[in-house]
Amino acid sequence: MIRPMINRDSQFFWDGTAAGELRIQVCNACGAKRFPPGPACPDCGALDRGFEATSGKGTVFSYVVHRYPPVPGKELPIVIALIDLDEGVRMVGEVVDVTDEEIEIGMPLQVDYRRIDDELTLPIWRKAS
Ligand code: ZN
Repeated sequence: MIRPMINRDSQFFWDGTAAGELRIQVCNACGAKRFPPGPACPDCGALDRGFEATSGKGTVFSYVVHRYPPVPGKELPIVIALIDLDEGVRMVGEVVDVTDEEIEIGMPLQVDYRRIDDELTLPIWRKAS
């Protein structure tokens, strides 16, 4: 499978998923929330950054159903959505247990976690009940 890059800026995110938390970066200077993580705040430029755990809830902003080309370690098709978190940031994620006919814009989702190994736990999304 393709492993995500884990670096100094994103370590907190992967520590979070391993602990069952979906974390986003927060600027310690102005309080702006952001995703993906980066060294500087896009709002105020401050380098002083922290993070917080989100509710793990969001809605589908848009999506694609990936049928081709093959993805290592994946059975196709897979549903990849752009998800608006309740906290106001947007992230890409795989939606599981939802068919390509069920998925729709605005669908409420709840994050879940798929442990790959000791170093990697991926966030996945399911239809919120
Ligand atoms: Zn800021």
